[in-house]
Amino acid sequence: MTRTFFVGGNWKCNSTVKSITELCASWKESTDNGAKYSGKPVEIVIAPPSIYAQTAKDALPANFQVSLQDCYSSTGAFTGEIAADMIVDMGIPWVITGHSERRTIFKETDEVVATKTAYAISKGLSVIACIGELLEEREAGKTLEVNERQLSAIAATVTDWSKVVIAYEPVWAIGTGKVATPEQAQEVHAALRAWLSTNVNPEVAESTRIIYGGSVKPANANELAGQADIDGFLVGGASLKPDFISVIDSYA
Ligand code: PGA
Repeated sequence: MTRTFFVGGNWKCNSTVKSITELCASWKESTDNGAKYSGKPVEIVIAPPSIYAQTAKDALPANFQVSLQDCYSSTGAFTGEIAADMIVDMGIPWVITGHSERRTIFKETDEVVATKTAYAISKGLSVIACIGELLEEREAGKTLEVNERQLSAIAATVTDWSKVVIAYEPVWAIGTGKVATPEQAQEVHAALRAWLSTNVNPEVAESTRIIYGGSVKPANANELAGQADIDGFLVGGASLKPDFISVIDSYA
């Protein structure tokens, strides 16, 4: 496979200076400061709450990169927001856009997500762009329709696909302990890759990482990682624990 396996950890609105220091120390210890992975094709990116970005940057193993969990698509009079420009300025290479919690709780539309994604890329960031269907959409047989609509909005604004990782995160699987089966995830990943092939081009379809998120943990990561079109994970709860290392290691 030409696609480097990708494991993201999304800490969401969790952590303290103390918990970050302790977690990163345990990861450093169990990976020999990350060196264990130096010869392996795995890209590791951790997204702490923004205010702890520098704390995490200082504490993480050497080969772990940092991401923010969201960004704004402008500098200026936008109280409380963090512009993509500032993320770049702080030497942080990644940002997550369109996480289901941003879409559902903070009412971000497909268009807002697309604008943020394009803006972040234009400033030089790499983006983990999230999509995924609600339980009622899956039950109504609309899984592919919803995911293709969300992907299509993002794809319309992307100018550099080498800067994009697509995270398929079925909303019913996020934080619920209810992981998609490897077959359910593979079906959607394959459909998304086919969509990219038809609507962008076959090269982008072949080279773009499509990662799975939703209740990934050490116990289920291996089987999911074995699927042809699953190129890694975006992990929430399990990325706050020392044994997140097993998820990183799931791609042998
Ligand atoms: P979870 O979250 O692993 O806790 O289900 C995944 C995510 O929201 O990215």
